[in-house]
Amino acid sequence: MSSQEQLESFQRCLQGARKILCIVGAGLSASSGLTTFQAANGEWRGHSALELATPEAFRENPELVWVFYSARRYTAMKARPNDAHFALAELCRRVAADERREILLVTQNVDGLHWRAGQPEALTVELHGSVFDYRCTEFLCNYKGRNVRDHFLTAALRKHTPREPPQPVASCCQPAKKRARCACEDTRENGLALQFGGLEGDLPRCPRCRVGLLRPGVVWCGESLSLVQMDRVDAFLSAKQKVDLVLVIGTSGRVWPAMGYVERAQLCGSRIALFNTEIEDAASISKNKKMWAFQGNAAETLPHALEPVIGRHYKPRSWSQA
Ligand SMILES: [Zn+2]
Ligand SMILES: [Zn+2]
Repeated sequence: MSSQEQLESFQRCLQGARKILCIVGAGLSASSGLTTFQAANGEWRGHSALELATPEAFRENPELVWVFYSARRYTAMKARPNDAHFALAELCRRVAADERREILLVTQNVDGLHWRAGQPEALTVELHGSVFDYRCTEFLCNYKGRNVRDHFLTAALRKHTPREPPQPVASCCQPAKKRARCACEDTRENGLALQFGGLEGDLPRCPRCRVGLLRPGVVWCGESLSLVQMDRVDAFLSAKQKVDLVLVIGTSGRVWPAMGYVERAQLCGSRIALFNTEIEDAASISKNKKMWAFQGNAAETLPHALEPVIGRHYKPRSWSQA
């Protein structure tokens, strides 16, 4: 099949699909200039993921962990949702508006970009939580909150948070654009030890019990994913009406639990469309009538592929002009 035939065959399936599952991974955040631990060689300012994103790290050094998440909040706020975020939000709205059709978006990203692109919350599962969420660490207090207005939460975090702008990253398979850096060329940032004078007394506190320290509402290494969120995906997959199309975006789809979802849908006859900068097994996928692979930046390939459903004016005017 030529790439044009591929696209048309995908679009026919998309238009006829009754039930669609979208699985989104870190590649979509990278298109907006947000990198993950993995892309940054597992480090942030010389600190490893183990020092920054585990329950033990938070118990031992809540100052460092909060400064790290404060920096991530800041960077996420400075990043802009890309065209694929907007296209997915519009796809969800259009499909959900049709009584006979269903859609669910499952994202592994914690940066809030889906939400800022207008993604309907009721149709979204944030598997790993969000850097804009927090919850109380006090054993008997179950307070949970979300704050997307204040970048820094406390005066001390405002003072100590490194202001790191999002980094446009060119993927290895594309020619590097001007001023863009390739993730694999990033050099390790060393020796930027953080100073925490007076920070201990001014970390985010629980507004309900007034004693508990708040922690970021993300899933850390060694923690299990939220059962409530997992159950929503499970119910969607196991309902009588089967999923007939899965869109896998910005991930190889080979990491758990995304891989499990793809396999379950496939077993029930669903077709799979991959949108990623790197496609493994491209040759065998091109022979598989139940799969499509669109290699490249999903921010460019996805809106084009979804066009028969979302049209060309899928972005809110306020963002198109900015
Ligand atoms: Zn490279
Ligand atoms: Zn509390």
